[in-house]
Amino acid sequence: MPVRETEAIILRTYPLSEADKIVSFFSRGGGRTRGVAHNARRSVKRFGASLERLSHVRVRYFEQESRELVRLESCELVQSFFELQSDYAAGVAFSYIAEVCELLLPEREVNDPFFRLVLLVMNEIGHGDIWRPLTYFDLWAVTLAGFLPPLDTCSRCQGSLDPGEAAWFRLESQGLQCKTCRSDGSWSLSGDSRSLAHGMMERSLAAIPDEGWGKSRAEDLRRLLEQQVEKHLERKLITRPLVEGL
Ligand SMILES: [Zn+2]
Repeated sequence: MPVRETEAIILRTYPLSEADKIVSFFSRGGGRTRGVAHNARRSVKRFGASLERLSHVRVRYFEQESRELVRLESCELVQSFFELQSDYAAGVAFSYIAEVCELLLPEREVNDPFFRLVLLVMNEIGHGDIWRPLTYFDLWAVTLAGFLPPLDTCSRCQGSLDPGEAAWFRLESQGLQCKTCRSDGSWSLSGDSRSLAHGMMERSLAAIPDEGWGKSRAEDLRRLLEQQVEKHLERKLITRPLVEGL
């Protein structure tokens, strides 16, 4: 049985039997993986607090031939985000990130940029900022998953959208639309939010100033991106209304 040791982020755990847990984790070296942690429910000795949701860990596991689940041998805490989750807003943001990772990442596909994105965003949220890192997460999650619509072209007339110009979108449309082509009942995406999206594509999160951020900033951009995620998944995210309710 090949053994693997890698950094990982715990996405969620659920009981398998009286003693065992199933652990869903996103590993740097192996992608999103599910495994069995034997005795994790009965004894805290072996895994301790390392299996808390969104813990950053170093995990060692065995691939089990012809079995879907790997077998966790050990799991050592690198960084815990558990304390931060006592803050309701941070807890909701973390749940949202975990759900998106769980549903969006294909199983066993290595995705180092996505792994770094999650760690970066969780650390930023840990510093008390929610909306700037969440917007950054949404934008890059959709980009890395490969379904960010072109931000500068109308999907209907193919005309270019000028910088600073508003655009429109709806769930059914393939991309953004210009003022002339927009359909009834569309959501608008402000010119500011389009510029911000460009800024976030070109610069690191640390280079995006944190002044002036509140829930209303780039809310339209997050709506566009989260709609794209749900469209791609063909299902609603359970945690999205919780984020909207913050
Ligand atoms: Zn158009």
